[in-house]
Amino acid sequence: MTKTQLAVELSRLKTFQKPKMYLEQYPTDSEIAADMLWSADMQGDIEGKVIADLGAGTGILGIGALILGAKKVFFVEKDTTAMAIARENIKNIDFSKEAVFVEGDVKSFNEKVDVVIMNPPFGTKEKHVDKEFLLQAFKIAEVVYSFHKLETKEFIQKLAESNQAAITHFWSFKFPLRASMTHHRKKVEKIDVGCWRFKRKVYK
Ligand code: SAH
Repeated sequence: MTKTQLAVELSRLKTFQKPKMYLEQYPTDSEIAADMLWSADMQGDIEGKVIADLGAGTGILGIGALILGAKKVFFVEKDTTAMAIARENIKNIDFSKEAVFVEGDVKSFNEKVDVVIMNPPFGTKEKHVDKEFLLQAFKIAEVVYSFHKLETKEFIQKLAESNQAAITHFWSFKFPLRASMTHHRKKVEKIDVGCWRFKRKVYK
């Protein structure tokens, strides 16, 4: 498997049919997902690991992790419609044994895992929801990969510090947002997004 092959497989997945704005349902682009997962695998954070995909949506990140050999992935998502699409996506690639679907709020997901990977809501509709996702991720995993708007960089750094998490890696991406998500006239708008890798300094 190459990174390009992974991106191609991920591009075949079904995505949100009617994205819900209030839940900030924008899917991760397949090339960005492949890029991020590939880097995570290079760090030894995917193959053989137990992973939680928080705010999994239609499942692209968790499914990519399974394709790269994750031992088990929890897909945590509160929207029934998105979860149904994620289930369908998994069925088509035959990893159902390793996938666990948890329908509910990430705040009540307390299973300990090796790694969290997530593209959570950016907190533009519901204030501080990005913070809640990160705090929950720090509770359940030693290593966390998370996408956020680049403009929240300082907030992310402070939050990491106050939770004894070191930022070990950072990647920046241009996220394509489809016109349906932006109300803007331009067909595809791109926003600056970062992916941070955190490692808890003290973890029991
Ligand atoms: N991770 C997916 C989806 C990103 S969109 C991807 O990368 O494509 C963010 C997702 O978080 C949406 O599917 C939304 O329904 C979900 N979500 C928002 N708030 C949530 C919460 N409190 N608990 C669980 N899921 C939530």
